[in-house]
Amino acid sequence: MKALLEFQDHLQKSRRIVALVGAGLSVSSGLPTYRGTQGLWKNFNMIDLATPDAFYIDPGLVWQFYSWRRFNALKAKPNKGHQAVSQLAQIKGNDYITITQNVDGLQSRSGHPKHNLYEIHGSLFELKCTSFTCNYTDRDNFTNPLTPALADTEYEYDSKRKRRDLDTDQSISPQFRPVKELAELDLPSCPACNELLRPGVVWFGESLLLLVIDQIDNFIEEDHVDLVLVIGTSGTVYPANSYVDRIKLKGGKVAVFNTDIDQDVLEGKVSNTWGFKGDAAETLPLALKPLLEKNPASTTI
Ligand SMILES: [Zn+2]
Repeated sequence: MKALLEFQDHLQKSRRIVALVGAGLSVSSGLPTYRGTQGLWKNFNMIDLATPDAFYIDPGLVWQFYSWRRFNALKAKPNKGHQAVSQLAQIKGNDYITITQNVDGLQSRSGHPKHNLYEIHGSLFELKCTSFTCNYTDRDNFTNPLTPALADTEYEYDSKRKRRDLDTDQSISPQFRPVKELAELDLPSCPACNELLRPGVVWFGESLLLLVIDQIDNFIEEDHVDLVLVIGTSGTVYPANSYVDRIKLKGGKVAVFNTDIDQDVLEGKVSNTWGFKGDAAETLPLALKPLLEKNPASTTI
């Protein structure tokens, strides 16, 4: 309680704020984390599918995987945590940025202004041309499916074609859908040059988007940041940790909202750092409440 009041007092006094959002916030909207897991999709390791090599070898397979992820992200709804972040972004305007590691578009869909939102791993709803000579990009493309051939590929199991063996028993089990073999012609193509489009996400083995990283660096360097909110991530993995460290070094304070928090932080042993353990979708709106209530802003889903 003491930590909460201290945090809220500092929040009200803070002019420039950075929020770092990780996968934990989207878990509360029902989306699993993919990075760093051994998750399987149709018996493929998800991490093996999220690479430039996988796309080069079999773009049809990788597009089916992303079609499934787009479908799940579209089904999910932004939660109270996303909404609180978006409200804060509206209130603080140019004195604020959100850096999200999530590609699911939920932060954007919760009413976050575009100008102070940085999706450092890209977005499932961005399409990019694969040609080196073409810079076509399509943002906020929520079409599902993207092509007729990708229809239904987002389902791992077929619930329509239920197996009904009425002679023996009444049990109904959905059938596993194998991956379709799709030709390049059946996949999303660039309206400018006709080459293949790819998902606008940062794959394993690819570097983060330089322009975005530059803009974040500029925000952190140009003036003192008073507070960094670390939401749904421990903040100890690159690049989140580097932002936290740089802001702290210049005298900024840190507040972590996550299910997993360092014990020393929880016990108040780490200087200028507060830790609020629990589901960030619940704890963050409560912690930000005094500021958000003073500045009611509209949110849309
Ligand atoms: Zn193109």
